Amino acid sequence: MHSYTEKRVACPHCGHTISITLDASNGSQEFYDDCPACCHAIHLNMTVNEQMDTIELLIDADDEQVF
Ligand SMILES: [Zn+2]
Repeated sequence: MHSYTEKRVACPHCGHTISITLDASNGSQEFYDDCPACCHAIHLNMTVNEQMDTIELLIDADDEQVF
């Protein structure tokens, strides 16, 4: 069974479209990727819904979090 999914997301910093390959076999996870256009870090939150057999991908720009 292949659980790789390619998703297209827009960079929260510059709007550049990035395709990201997700591996759902390890379940839900959180990771960072660098935008190839503006080099800012993008915070990605992958949620695997095994019942629905879908993957949700949430993105945000970490610099919006001020403590
Ligand atoms: Zn960007």
